[in-house]
Amino acid sequence: MKFPLLRELATKDVITVDFSDTLDTALTLMHRNNHRNVIVENDNNYYILTSASLLYLKLNKHDFSKKIDTIILEKIPTINKNENILDTLDLLESDLEYICVTNDNNSLYGIITHTDIISHIDPETLMENYRIGDLINMNKYIQKSDFNTSTSEVLKYMLDGHYDCMVITKNDEPIGIITTKDIITIMNSSLDITAPIKTYMSSPIKTVNEKASIKEVIAFIKEKHFKRVIITNNDGKLIGLILQKELISLSYSKWAILMKEYSSELSQLNDMLEKKTKKFEEKASIDHLTKLYNRYKFTELFISEYNTMVQRDNNMSLMMLDIDKFKLVNDNYGHNAGDKVLVELSQLLAKHLRNVDIIARWGGEEFVVLLPTADVKTTEMLANRIREELSTINMGDDLYITSSFGVTGVKAGDRLEDTIQRADDALYKAKDSGRNCVIINI
Ligand code: GH3
Ligand code: MG
Ligand code: MG
Repeated sequence: MKFPLLRELATKDVITVDFSDTLDTALTLMHRNNHRNVIVENDNNYYILTSASLLYLKLNKHDFSKKIDTIILEKIPTINKNENILDTLDLLESDLEYICVTNDNNSLYGIITHTDIISHIDPETLMENYRIGDLINMNKYIQKSDFNTSTSEVLKYMLDGHYDCMVITKNDEPIGIITTKDIITIMNSSLDITAPIKTYMSSPIKTVNEKASIKEVIAFIKEKHFKRVIITNNDGKLIGLILQKELISLSYSKWAILMKEYSSELSQLNDMLEKKTKKFEEKASIDHLTKLYNRYKFTELFISEYNTMVQRDNNMSLMMLDIDKFKLVNDNYGHNAGDKVLVELSQLLAKHLRNVDIIARWGGEEFVVLLPTADVKTTEMLANRIREELSTINMGDDLYITSSFGVTGVKAGDRLEDTIQRADDALYKAKDSGRNCVIINI
């Protein structure tokens, strides 16, 4: 078995500028070459300037005649061109999608993206029967807008949510997409941003059916050079969006497991892979910001807890909570303060809950807790305790927040969807009846 070397994989089609170039130069180059990023070089250190950050600066009326060194940029990891693809595993920890590949003298050879890496994972080693629909479990947080929404509103939504793309729908069917790259084009051409988004969206779009296997989806991404896949059900309705990055975490864990099975061939690599596998499994199951389980992991854990509950004829309940008026926190105190609140709340949950309880970030500012053996009454009391303490915590700058809760019991015969639906209905009622309260829905 042979692992490809980075020099065989890296793309040399890169635009570079240096610290003394202006933002205008970067924008023009990006536009002219139809790239979504430029690499900023300074003394053999490499940074990235993305179309999303240019967009952000533009909207904040930043002066584009200023030099690039007047803004803060993210540094990209580097790796020598003679290393092999396995050596990128460590570097993939970063949220950035790029790794700079360098010559022996540290000058830039090219870049490698997560797409390049995923393209070189042997498809045979991927679980062919794993359906893409299984990965996106009831994703309620799809970044989408109706086709008649105004461009300016979509733009604001993208900025608020730090989304780099938005799916455009008509009657819930995806009909187009808009990315930060398109926005750069719109701005460069001084087009009317009050026009509906359908005027500027890229359309039609390719979608993938939820029944497609991971292998098929990877082949699709590879063929089309897509960064994300839009998933539809049999009726053509939008049900999810999955980033290639999310696919990577999953594929790597599976890949590493299969590799281990060929241990005679791979004995020298086994130690290394073992360490990495744990990291990647963690990456695939833990929410980066709050360090709580993510939705995928929660779904997996629910099934085993459910089986135990049925076998032992136990109680089990589920609590769902959503921060009240969280948008205002971001608007008034900034996104970083918002992030801090999410972390504080996660810690508060951990403090009040038992080790056996499973806490997850369900999405955005919504959390879900599974409480094995607990009945609904106990969980309601616990939710109220958490709710009360939360409202007394000064999150900094006299920022206080509240949260609404929905509580339900898990019943024999329930699927996770059923349980979540009841908790969600209760949560909706809690919001409707003035927020900062707990509603139960048995
Ligand atoms: P409600 O009381 O009805 O729940 O109002 P809300 O403002 O909390 O609800 P809404 O769904 O309108 O807004 C949720 C906001 O959460 C919008 C989004 O920008 C923000 N958000 C989602 N994820 C994150 C995150 O990771 N960090 C931060 N800072 N904000 C986030
Ligand atoms: Mg909320
Ligand atoms: Mg919400």
